[in-house]
Amino acid sequence: MIYIPYYHALALPDVSCYFQVDYLNGMSDQPVSTGDKVLFLMLKEDKKEGEEISAEDIFPIAVRGVVESIDNEWALVHTTNRVNLDSIQIEGKNFRLEMRMRPDIDDLDPDERKERFQRMRSAMLQTLQGSQWMEGARSHMLRWKNMNEILSFTSAFLHISNEEKFAILREDSVARRTELMEKVFYASLELYKVENEAQNAQQQSNEKLYREQAIRRQIDFLQKELDELHPENVTDIQKFEQKIRESGMNDTARAEAEKVLNRIRQEGQDSHEYGMLYDYLDFVTGLSWKKEEAQPIDLAEARRVLDEEHFGLKKTKERIIQQIAVMALNQKQSGSILLFVGAPGTGKTSIGQSIAKALKRKYVRISLGGVRDEAEIRGHRRTYIGAMPGRIMDGIRRSGVSNPVMVLDEVDKLTGGYNGDPSSALLEVLDPEQNSTFTDHYMNVPYDLSDVLFVCTANTTDTIPEPLLNRMEVISFPGYSALEKFQIARRHLLPKAMEKAGMGEESLEISDEALKAVISDYTMEAGVRGLKNRLDTLCRGAAVKIVSGICQKVEIEEKDLRGYLEMAPIRHDRILEAKAPGVVTGLAWTQAGGEILFIETLLTEGSGKVVITGQLGDVMKESVQIALSLVKSMFPEKAELFAHHDLHLHVPAGAVPKDGPSAGITLTTALASLVTGTAVNPEYAMTGEVSLRGVIMPIGGLPEKLMAAQRAGVKQVFIPEENQDDLVDVAEEVKASLKIVPVHYVKEVLEQTGILSS
Ligand code: ADP
Repeated sequence: MIYIPYYHALALPDVSCYFQVDYLNGMSDQPVSTGDKVLFLMLKEDKKEGEEISAEDIFPIAVRGVVESIDNEWALVHTTNRVNLDSIQIEGKNFRLEMRMRPDIDDLDPDERKERFQRMRSAMLQTLQGSQWMEGARSHMLRWKNMNEILSFTSAFLHISNEEKFAILREDSVARRTELMEKVFYASLELYKVENEAQNAQQQSNEKLYREQAIRRQIDFLQKELDELHPENVTDIQKFEQKIRESGMNDTARAEAEKVLNRIRQEGQDSHEYGMLYDYLDFVTGLSWKKEEAQPIDLAEARRVLDEEHFGLKKTKERIIQQIAVMALNQKQSGSILLFVGAPGTGKTSIGQSIAKALKRKYVRISLGGVRDEAEIRGHRRTYIGAMPGRIMDGIRRSGVSNPVMVLDEVDKLTGGYNGDPSSALLEVLDPEQNSTFTDHYMNVPYDLSDVLFVCTANTTDTIPEPLLNRMEVISFPGYSALEKFQIARRHLLPKAMEKAGMGEESLEISDEALKAVISDYTMEAGVRGLKNRLDTLCRGAAVKIVSGICQKVEIEEKDLRGYLEMAPIRHDRILEAKAPGVVTGLAWTQAGGEILFIETLLTEGSGKVVITGQLGDVMKESVQIALSLVKSMFPEKAELFAHHDLHLHVPAGAVPKDGPSAGITLTTALASLVTGTAVNPEYAMTGEVSLRGVIMPIGGLPEKLMAAQRAGVKQVFIPEENQDDLVDVAEEVKASLKIVPVHYVKEVLEQTGILSS
């Protein structure tokens, strides 16, 4: 007799199973032989090997089997019937049991039993189709003869609890037991299917992942092969891969760059788009995408830098220092946008450069003169042939950082054209609300311009559109007096010019008189650009002398200037020579700074017509009408003269358009001088708007005008009384050399010029 504790499976009658002979032998003192009995016990709880089993662990119904045959190592056991275990005693390895037969009630039709068995087996085969388990078990399964065999063998693997197994074993009616078995079997088969599906899904997603990895490896491999065929391509792609990685681009920019890089990979170097794609990547990876750390601001040092590089410009420098202080307090790298307005050569651009130096930041200059296409600011879309980034992004690229000091030169020279309005694009660049996501059409991804410090320059505010002008804070550069020019030349322009010409400090000396003469007799300008050119010419001339061995040190005196500069000096006395009735010197403001102008008038036989020449604008033409009416009303006795003569009024430099109301007093004085036949001293100059009541009203640009007067050798200037406050902005030296006479009524001017007797 052999007892077999059969832990998991459900043993049922009429089942054939094989056991290893050694295994059965291990359970008894005697070797197993044919006809031996085997008792299949089922435990209530799954016990692990080595755990001790007690009587309560065992369900009280078991199945009995008989060893039918033994073939070498295998014994075939066939189960026969169920038994009730009336008492169970366990003593070590041995079980002592009292048992009784428990017969089945065979109430199921054999055909139906067979049919149900076949259905169950095919369901099983179908479910396990394709599973690993099926591989080895299929032939075995096909040998099963009844449902009991199916359940006995599969119960260990299907999800059937020991309670469910016992419920089946306990059922005496074969029909009902079959039903129970089917129910448990199909339910756990479903469970298996669901589990299997979930497992498959997981496996599928894993498979997808593995597949993807495999494909990638394959691509890498093929790419390498391709690269070997086109080594020139590789370096580009690898270079850009590395640059994209290291650039610190934001996610949008990186995605766009990678998209373009993929196209380069796919299309190769022979594609007609290669150049365009290459240029794009070269551009975006060349930009600095990193946010630059703000440098600590040292106000005293900033002041020192500004003073060192620029002479004068006290007000401008003070305003710049304020701006730097505000930026430091706000911990910002940008602030209000300064607009420097003044004549050429007054230092607007170069002070922008000094701001960068004072802030220890990179400097970049963008010239906007003549820009008429919006795309020049905002870039061309890449679909255009020859598309390019706009000037702003190009500037950022040249600076190599994201926070340069950017000087936008000549914002007054932007012109709207057919291709959009560049000033509205510029508005977006300068708007702190929008410029953190400025999108250049060429780049097609946003770039943060909020750390850029913008400085703009212009010759005049007249042509700057209002919305753009409102964004900026205007600082005017009135130009320099002769004394200031002398200092600028000595301290800055001459040393630079000598260095440019490769001359040491000792090799050239220009006397003070000569330098002053260069300023007064060889230039006639508000700024110092012409002066700079003259000094360059002097240095070049001196260089020739030194190199040709004529002398080792060149000394230039006033008398030598004409030879070096190869031009005749400007004769101020000649300019102011004309002394005839009807001609009066006026002062004007132009984009090139202040200028003197002459109003010429002439009466010819005629019938009272008025001819105006010299390209006067509408406002100035109206001033002529006002002047005429005023003179007619002031000199009623001259009515006859006007009736029988035509009046011709001309303002020389006839090719230059002129406009503005400030020539009013000059026009009136010229006409009065003409009709009275009193010549006005040409060393007198004047400026002021005139009303019909004969009142002189204030004008703009007084400092520029007074400097022009001084340059031209004018001795006395009439200015509107209300402009007296502006005199604080006028250099002392200019004020000292001019007699400045504030006037309120036209009459005062006519009296002081001798036209009217006082
Ligand atoms: P703008 O931009 O107003 O036309 P720039 O800035 O180009 O003028 O100036 C012309 C030249 O004059 C530059 O070489 C500049 O260094 C020099 N310059 C102008 N103003 C000064 C100044 N106040 N001190 C020293 N150099 C000056």
